[in-house]
Amino acid sequence: MNSYQIDQSGFYGSYGGAYIPEILYKTVEDLRRQYLPIIESEEFLHEYYQLLRDYVGRPSPLYYARRMSERYGCRLYLKREDLNHTGAHKINNAIGQVLLARRMGKRRIIAETGAGQHGVATATVCALMGLPCRVYMGALDVKRQHVNVERMRMLGAEVYPVESGNKTLKDATNEAIRDWCCHPADTFYIIGSTVGPHPYPDLVARLQSVISQELKVQLQEKEDRPWPDVLMACVGGGSNAAGTIYHYLDDTRVRIVLAEAGGLGIDTEQTAASLNIGTVGILHGSRIKVMQTEDGQIIEPYSISAGLDYPGTGPMHCNLFETGRATVLPVNDDEALRAAFELTRLEGIIPALESSHALALLPKMKFRPDEVVVLTVSGRGDKDLDTYLKHMPQQETKNK
Ligand SMILES: *Cc1c(COP(=O)(O)O)cnc(C)c1O
Repeated sequence: MNSYQIDQSGFYGSYGGAYIPEILYKTVEDLRRQYLPIIESEEFLHEYYQLLRDYVGRPSPLYYARRMSERYGCRLYLKREDLNHTGAHKINNAIGQVLLARRMGKRRIIAETGAGQHGVATATVCALMGLPCRVYMGALDVKRQHVNVERMRMLGAEVYPVESGNKTLKDATNEAIRDWCCHPADTFYIIGSTVGPHPYPDLVARLQSVISQELKVQLQEKEDRPWPDVLMACVGGGSNAAGTIYHYLDDTRVRIVLAEAGGLGIDTEQTAASLNIGTVGILHGSRIKVMQTEDGQIIEPYSISAGLDYPGTGPMHCNLFETGRATVLPVNDDEALRAAFELTRLEGIIPALESSHALALLPKMKFRPDEVVVLTVSGRGDKDLDTYLKHMPQQETKNK
């Protein structure tokens, strides 16, 4: 049983673990010993679910997409994480980790961010709780994601531009880890996806598992059975996908099909498809598949979607991919863009570019007409409007 869940020693199959410097051992060990008793306690769950309901707006709707269903010949439901406060699923995790930090007596929050989405979610919850917050961000990303930087500053967070390396996410993460090493006693490091040393991947997966917990109830209501035939989501580090599949991992009636960012194509240098083309390595304290050169230097990933261009994928998904439990297909920039315009015009929903990668799986699939398909729309597309407008198809422009 539970063969696809984490094991006693913090591994999913051969992936995961906690490969950390000596100086962090005690901090990570404290977290490992305390996280389950705290997040499973009645008192924690009461506060967590109350905030998810009244602050985030959960449960997020499960929407039957009629016109998309007709086009793809199935019964397609969209799990609407785009309707959450701050516009994506990341807030579920940020709330949970801040509540955990408080109960562990940590009064200072740090985080790393690439596109800025996790930084905004963390800064939001820190404002709510009145906690000081520093967000590490590559200096290049600070320039590229200006609006999110302003949002974090307005929320009271200190955005710390990282000038080392390529000045992107990987360098921001290294700097956050350095900070954590220096302030282990009072500082909690909030990781934004199912990555990092054990227990982070499991912690984040559990905090996002509210998605599939709600799916069970919502599918029972709408389809008279708690499981779908197919689950679909996009994978960056893996957290919205992990939340979507969590309670169905060991239910083999449910097919799992995930999208990772193909960029300009997996046969080009411009890609972020680390499951399909990566090799095993240690990144950010975890044994996972990473995009690296033969001598172990990280290859800078590329995707049109800033939230998917992480050079690795979390250990849960590495194991699901390797065992064949999940099908993981690369989706290229142009396919994701096409899917975004299609959803917008058929259902009136502008998806985040990340979520568009999951939507672009649909034309690659073959469904039976009665199959129940649930696809998670991880976020809304407001943040991606500039990119969408730049790539607006000719006829859609004329349509107006
Ligand atoms: C960050 C982000 C992702 C990718 O992260 P995961 O941890 O793989 O879910 C996907 N969609 C949106 C909207 C995001 O902000």
